[in-house]
Amino acid sequence: MSDEIKESCGLFGVYNHPEASRLTYLGLFSLQHRGEESAGIVTSDTHTLTKHIGMGLVEDVFSQENLTSLKGRLAIGHTRYSTTGSSLLKNAQPLQVDYSRGSIAIAHNGNLINALFLRDELEAHGSIFQTTIDSEVILHLLADPQYAHFEEALVDTLLKLKGAFSLLILREDELIGVRDPNGFRPLCIGRLGEATLLASETCALDLLGAEFLREVEPGEVVVINASGIRSLKPFPPQTPSHCIFEHVYFARPDSFIFGESVHQVRQRLGRQLAREHPADADVVIAIPDSGNSAALGFSLESGIPFEIGMTRNHYVGRTFIQPNQQTRDFQVRVKFNPVKAALFGKRVVVVDDSIVRGTTCKARLKSIRAAGAKEIHMRVSCPPIKNPCFYGIDFPTRQELIACSHSLEQIQEFLEVDSLGYLSIEGLLSAVKEDKSHYCTACYSGKYPLPFGREADKYILERKFAGEAHPPTAPGPVSRGQDMEA
Ligand code: SF4
Repeated sequence: MSDEIKESCGLFGVYNHPEASRLTYLGLFSLQHRGEESAGIVTSDTHTLTKHIGMGLVEDVFSQENLTSLKGRLAIGHTRYSTTGSSLLKNAQPLQVDYSRGSIAIAHNGNLINALFLRDELEAHGSIFQTTIDSEVILHLLADPQYAHFEEALVDTLLKLKGAFSLLILREDELIGVRDPNGFRPLCIGRLGEATLLASETCALDLLGAEFLREVEPGEVVVINASGIRSLKPFPPQTPSHCIFEHVYFARPDSFIFGESVHQVRQRLGRQLAREHPADADVVIAIPDSGNSAALGFSLESGIPFEIGMTRNHYVGRTFIQPNQQTRDFQVRVKFNPVKAALFGKRVVVVDDSIVRGTTCKARLKSIRAAGAKEIHMRVSCPPIKNPCFYGIDFPTRQELIACSHSLEQIQEFLEVDSLGYLSIEGLLSAVKEDKSHYCTACYSGKYPLPFGREADKYILERKFAGEAHPPTAPGPVSRGQDMEA
């Protein structure tokens, strides 16, 4: 990834383990790439729910002491990047409430496209909200006192939600996992001894030595309690819309999502890219880490040797430096430094997974040129990103997306490369296993699988707080498969 795009969130849940909070901490640790702004864990000892949340990375938020204070054999955890609502402690998850039937906590990955509509309805009936995030409406709907039984409230709540939602729900004595009927975001089930685990990605299970049982199916609700694992299918049948960008960039290459290995998909993307945009070159290098698998695929298909042309410093963390030109250059170099011995005098194919704004990419290519590369052939293992995402990924605005405002030739000129090739949408879809119709490609194609209000964005609920007028956000004018730009 040449520009920083933020993932939505990572989820991890544990049922029936004496070290539930520590397991969840480790699970969140391996899902850190899905959200770096805040982290939180709620545990249950079957009577009481206990919560600890904080701003920052998982390792900054938790200490031995607060993990010890999180008692019980059940837990859910969340790492967050804000896709609705600002990065504030009050918006950190899991969210927890005590209500007439007991206590409940939720952790949400995705974005509800009808959150404002639901919130307006709830507020009209007296609900008082404490956050500016879409996920809080779920908690209010679940806690509605009109339902005698929790499962009744759960099913009715889920049927009201529209958009992307992989959810973990914790009650005193049970853990529930939910995946929306489109299956936008991944969620899987694992086993560790007597414990059952739920995780956004399988890499979190691997770290704990847990067995991967299966993925939660799109539209499935798994209820895990003393009776075992029970599966509910409350939604009408629907064609899935897995987020293809999870395969391109977000998920870790060692994860297995949407029925296949992320690394293998990325390698196939690289092979297809080599077929669509061959290059006369001496070496293939990747922008690490997310470009690695695709660069390897490009090399295997083209026969051009793969080289480590750039090293990534994994110890950088956040650099609190005022952004002026000199420090911006430093920030690029401190994170990624070119390997001169691999690049000097060579014709180089540089493979990256995507280009968003183009500015960071340009800086990295400049450093490759400065290291002595004779020619640079830029290859991108996905199509140009031209549209925003309303299902849980925080892309910049259209105006900031370089592919929105520049032609291919203009981007090549801007990046100062000898050639530029993006993978086609057909090529992208040829690399994944399921039927083409089972993936969302809206950020490339503009074909949105679910209708949404055009004014939707991550600050929509804050604008409401600020008293700005807003049109209703019940399912809007864009329908499934319709081009938003039409
Ligand atoms: S618009 Fe793009 S990022 Fe968003 S869900 Fe669809 S494929 Fe994923």
